[in-house]
Amino acid sequence: MRIIEPSFTILDELDQQSLPVRIEFCGRICYKSENRIDSDSAIPFVRKMAKNGHNSVLEMGVLTLVVTCATPDPIQALFSLQPKFLQIDRLEGNRLLITGSIRTFREMLLFHPEDTLSRAMAHYLKEQHPYFFETLPINDTPERIAGVTIAKMALKDVEQLAAPLHAKHRYLAVKFIVNRAVTHELVRHRPCTFLQESQRYCRYSADKFGNEVTFIKPVFFEEQSEEFTIWQQSMEAMEAQYLRLLQTSSPQAARTVLPNSCKTEIIVYTNLLEWRHILSLRTSPAAEPSMREVMIPLAHTLQNRYPALFRLHLE
Ligand SMILES: Cc1cc2nc3c(=O)[nH]c(=O)nc-3n(C[C@H](O)[C@H](O)[C@H](O)COP(=O)(O)OP(=O)(O)OC[C@H]3O[C@@H](n4cnc5c(N)ncnc54)[C@H](O)[C@@H]3O)c2cc1C
Repeated sequence: MRIIEPSFTILDELDQQSLPVRIEFCGRICYKSENRIDSDSAIPFVRKMAKNGHNSVLEMGVLTLVVTCATPDPIQALFSLQPKFLQIDRLEGNRLLITGSIRTFREMLLFHPEDTLSRAMAHYLKEQHPYFFETLPINDTPERIAGVTIAKMALKDVEQLAAPLHAKHRYLAVKFIVNRAVTHELVRHRPCTFLQESQRYCRYSADKFGNEVTFIKPVFFEEQSEEFTIWQQSMEAMEAQYLRLLQTSSPQAARTVLPNSCKTEIIVYTNLLEWRHILSLRTSPAAEPSMREVMIPLAHTLQNRYPALFRLHLE
């Protein structure tokens, strides 16, 4: 068995990547198959996700569009749909700032095929990223969506948006390596997108996992204490039973003996406004100490990066 400290990484480098590369990187966390990423793997991977309807993986690709309409009618029509998973702000004139994930743009088209802007946005995205839309019915010619102009906003321009637009439209992905009790709490924040290492698929007896189970060092016990020894002995016993079960059973069956202390990886992707809310809840003295262990340093990092937005009073 291996014991490691919890950690987090803000996935800034993904912001510089194409949508398929980004989505593949995040999607492969579930199966811990990052070793299969190469320079040609991203598009086949996302094509498969779109075809098989693994929609939550497609949530990891978020982009911002500036939509200009000749008349206010399509704007009113879009607002009347009350899209739950798009961030929409009206700019001057008949212009909209719209941020959403590939999943949302696909589903806007699927669920509202008659809506002008839903069709126009899907049409625009399909021209740039056909692999996301191959299985969806997009028959529009440019003439049918005349009067609508769409442009993608570069991330550097999203960063420059004035408050409060910046906080709503700037999405940030953070990868946590924590125990499963922490991820169980994290996934309660419903506005976020999550992808998590799957114990159903990962076989920790395999070479790529070092043939062992990895646990997160509990924040609660000093390393030389009696409590720590009790904890460590329990983990050793559970690992032994897990490895025994794996000899005759699947990972999803064997994992039934695994405890909360198991290490897991999760990517949490949401906008800065939601991060501020999460951090205010999860850094508070009322929050679980293992959660605070990663959230307090994350809050400090974001406070340094966005001082006007993150004014947390950390105790
Ligand atoms: C210190 C602490 C202790 C906790 N203890 C417990 C506990 O003992 N048991 C427990 O079960 N949980 C517990 N929780 C979890 C807590 O109840 C929330 O689920 C979690 O904090 C996420 O809440 P949220 O409002 O940020 O996110 P969400 O509940 O995801 O809500 C985010 C936003 O989505 C909207 N929303 C989403 N779904 C709905 C809906 N169905 N109806 C209306 N609005 C919706 C709301 O507008 C809301 O603003 C605890 C959390 C903390 C921080």
